[in-house]
Amino acid sequence: MQKVRCDGCEHKFVPRPREKKGYQFFKCPECDKEYPICKITPKGIKLRDKLARERERYRLMNPGNTKPADIIAQHRLVQKLTEQFQAEVTPLAKAQ
Ligand SMILES: [Zn+2]
Repeated sequence: MQKVRCDGCEHKFVPRPREKKGYQFFKCPECDKEYPICKITPKGIKLRDKLARERERYRLMNPGNTKPADIIAQHRLVQKLTEQFQAEVTPLAKAQ
């Protein structure tokens, strides 16, 4: 991850995102200033878990013993879940 500069104390650091109940943020290690990243709804958190599982399933699909239609269907499912998940995320960071 790229370094950012704190606008509180000008300290340069690599952000380490943390999450509390769907609220993602990072802090300046020098002055503790908090930088909000985004907010994920409880529905979004569940969708993220499901998405991770389905992505993994898709990744492990073997074209040698899986029907192409099943692979395509799984790909579509992953895409649909990604869209649904993104709709549950509200970005809080200001544009850099
Ligand atoms: Zn700072």
